[in-house]
Amino acid sequence: MSEKMSSDHLKLISHPLVQHKLTVMRDTSTPTAQFRLLLREISQLMAYEVTRDLKLTTKTIETPLQKMEASVLAGRKPALVSILRAGNGMLDGLLDVIPAARVGFVGLYRDEVTLRPVQYYSKLPDHIEDRPTIVVDPMLATGNSASAAIEMIKDAGARNIRFMCLLAAPEGVQILAERHPDVPVFTAALDQKLNEKGYIVPGLGDAGDRIYGTG
Ligand code: URA
Repeated sequence: MSEKMSSDHLKLISHPLVQHKLTVMRDTSTPTAQFRLLLREISQLMAYEVTRDLKLTTKTIETPLQKMEASVLAGRKPALVSILRAGNGMLDGLLDVIPAARVGFVGLYRDEVTLRPVQYYSKLPDHIEDRPTIVVDPMLATGNSASAAIEMIKDAGARNIRFMCLLAAPEGVQILAERHPDVPVFTAALDQKLNEKGYIVPGLGDAGDRIYGTG
């Protein structure tokens, strides 16, 4: 899979299948069911890049022909942490390819006036300090929610964290780079800017509404 590295911190996944599916998702005429399926498919594809540096070890297995030392993921199973509710749309795709992952949820909503995150829920996997942890939210907008969620996940002990989104705004990337330089950001696109309501432009609208058919 091809990947264009924009910087050490921001990793732009430019694979043609990801880019094509993203364009269909941006289109306002794409219906809810198709949008949800495309997000799941893109998340499966992005999972290859996000997990590229996971450590391997070997174990002895027996094929029908002989014994061999074969590669398996080392250490504890990865933790996936979804920032509710839109994160769940990416979680499904990640679980398709890492079905044994442990899953956590962080509930944050964005105050429409201040644009600041307000926490209402947190449930994280145990031993998160020993797990590679992937935090997911499709839209990295102001970066305030993502930053607050990563803060909570670090407070729980996680040390090896990566953030995966579908679209990022320069403002959000900047905030994460300043507050969490140790957390690489994987995205399918870096858009132009945020508008006055905190929406990513050109973006795709409200990701939660488009995934779940609300709004
Ligand atoms: N959240 C969304 O769902 N969309 C945006 O454009 C910004 C934040």
